[in-house]
Amino acid sequence: MTVFERAKRHAWFMAGALLIAILFVLVVDRYFGHSTIAFGIAIVGLVFANTKMLSLNCPICGKNLFFRGIFVVPWPNRTCGKCRTELEDSIDN
Ligand SMILES: [Zn+2]
Repeated sequence: MTVFERAKRHAWFMAGALLIAILFVLVVDRYFGHSTIAFGIAIVGLVFANTKMLSLNCPICGKNLFFRGIFVVPWPNRTCGKCRTELEDSIDN
């Protein structure tokens, strides 16, 4: 599997995690009233779910696929922003 495919899978996983986090906050809000704690749990959960992102780096230069300069975007780079490697066909180990 290429690093781009793994990054794409992670992007979908995060989209699902975000949806679950939003639903969780809404459900708690609906049945238990407004809760800052529920919001906090959702945020912490998302941060933990996203730690895998930090290991999705370009196999050539090590640049993270989710960073565009100083910005983090929810979808990975197809081409490395630093060394221009085609990440779609670069197999990593
Ligand atoms: Zn690179």
